[in-house]
Amino acid sequence: MPLVRPLWAALLDLAAERDCGGCGRPQPSGEPLCPACDGLLAEGGPWRTLAAVPGTPRTHAVARYEDPVRTMLIGYKERGRTDLRRALGRALARAVAQTLDTLPDTALDAVFDTAGAAGCASVALVPMPSRRKAVRDRGQDTTARLARTAARALREVGLPVRAVPALRHARAVEDQAGLSREQRQTNLAGALRARRAAAVATSSVVLVDDISTSGASLAEASRALREAGVPVLGAATIAAARVRS
Ligand SMILES: [Zn+2]
Repeated sequence: MPLVRPLWAALLDLAAERDCGGCGRPQPSGEPLCPACDGLLAEGGPWRTLAAVPGTPRTHAVARYEDPVRTMLIGYKERGRTDLRRALGRALARAVAQTLDTLPDTALDAVFDTAGAAGCASVALVPMPSRRKAVRDRGQDTTARLARTAARALREVGLPVRAVPALRHARAVEDQAGLSREQRQTNLAGALRARRAAAVATSSVVLVDDISTSGASLAEASRALREAGVPVLGAATIAAARVRS
């Protein structure tokens, strides 16, 4: 009976989808998150990450990187909980809004003047590029999809925002997990390159990622864009490992 096991496994998956993607408690409503976990993405923060690495752009997050938010992010990225994308993308949108909100008025005026003059979206959310192996293993680029969801949420409230995957890896890098701050910097130095500088040249860039830890990857992304002549306004992540409220 070769079919029995896959069917049984699929039913178990369906059951798992009804558990809250954060705390794991059963969700009779069928929503991906219980109200308490959903609230952590709506009200936690604003947190500003404590930049550990020089060159890290000013970064805002809506939550600390700890459970149950940690479980949500791992579930979405590694365990196929694609039903969490909408909630996480909206959380990222809130972090982007916080980053824009803390800019000096002159910088914001420039953003919106350009939008009016060019008649197009003028804030580009540039996702941190995923490693090729991660995209293969996950079957999708989870960060790029979060960026698109966040951009859509911001357009719904009238902000001229689009997601532009403007960065790529110039060489292979190791998984950052488990590396020290210094090792992360070495692992990433010169690792990124702007691939669509022209597409973001008329935009103001906010870098986006799911988590900020040492800031090493955001600093490297910032450097790569700056070298291509694209200034970076700041960065936004859903969660931050080192934060100041
Ligand atoms: Zn929950």
